[in-house]
Amino acid sequence: EIKVRSCLDSLAVYQPGKPIEEVKRELGLEDIVKLASNENPLGPSPRAMAAVAAAVSQMNFYPDGSAYRLRAALAARLGVEFDAVIVGNGSNELVQMLSLALLEPGDEVVMPVPTFPRYEPLARLMGAVPVEVPLKDFRIDIEAMAARVGPKTKMIYLCNPNNPTGTIATRQEVDWLLERLDPAVLVVFDEAYFEYVTHPDYPDGLDYYRRGYNVMVLRTFSKMYGLAGLRVGYGVGSPRLVGYLNRVREPFNVNALAQEAALAALEDEEFVTLTKKTNEEGKRFLYQAFGARGIPYVPTEANFIFFDAGRDERVIFRRMLAEGVIIRGGFGYPTHLRVTIGTAAQNARFVAAIEKVLAE
Ligand code: PMP
Repeated sequence: EIKVRSCLDSLAVYQPGKPIEEVKRELGLEDIVKLASNENPLGPSPRAMAAVAAAVSQMNFYPDGSAYRLRAALAARLGVEFDAVIVGNGSNELVQMLSLALLEPGDEVVMPVPTFPRYEPLARLMGAVPVEVPLKDFRIDIEAMAARVGPKTKMIYLCNPNNPTGTIATRQEVDWLLERLDPAVLVVFDEAYFEYVTHPDYPDGLDYYRRGYNVMVLRTFSKMYGLAGLRVGYGVGSPRLVGYLNRVREPFNVNALAQEAALAALEDEEFVTLTKKTNEEGKRFLYQAFGARGIPYVPTEANFIFFDAGRDERVIFRRMLAEGVIIRGGFGYPTHLRVTIGTAAQNARFVAAIEKVLAE
């Protein structure tokens, strides 16, 4: 018999979006479109690709464990102290580090549901209690979240924009929350889709950091910068908090190629501009396509759209897969699925497939 920690009984293995190669093999189809993981449809930043190619010959060496150049570049770019920046093996790893550093058995972690699905298991892993607060009209219900904060609350997750709905908590709502919250409670802003937002009432989590609130801001190179496969994200918080995260951090958590790629991608303004433009055009195209077919959707501030197929989402997922289009369901809404905004060709392919599937 294998004896493991009892909290593992309540943990499932994370099921990522199906890899394209696997679907190709299963279906015997060559032409597959993956719009399931909010990846950048344009590929990686070209500058990042060149930087990786140049760094390959150095990969016999350990990476810089302190990620000095990348953190310095981020600190300069964001206008924060060097010691306030930490990098992770994807922002996923920063969620894990926060859990390891902050959570004791019995602590409570307030989070919306549905949201990014790693906050909940990483709280459980520490023996902490996830307090899941349902969305209201597909948006984080700030008042309900505040009402669930109690003496055992250690942290609150604000996924902003929220995944899978693409909605934002506004500046006014976040101001209201932070003004009344016990300063001992850490507010984690997960801003994985920060760079896509165009809404004027969107609050930049860093403003709260600068104003001295107890917050941690998480961002990533996986989306706007096209580096999901390399795994690099970053966090900004008080140097004291970052110091504690460094105690639980693996010494070489971000690999050498990822550090070089991230540094180059950060400078690749052309790629960022093109990604934003592609996303805005794709958003307009999909809104129009959904509207014309009477498919309800949630207006998004990110690079994906949550829509109501009107039928069992599990069935829709399978039928779309059979059409060679991978999207994502399983978010706890019986008829909603999430589609990543792709290139014009990918979006057209998605629309043709959803039209066919809904007509069946
Ligand atoms: N947070 C949110 C809200 C996300 O959607 C994702 C990626 N799906 C992540 C964090 C993790 O991103 P990464 O680990 O690739 O930086």
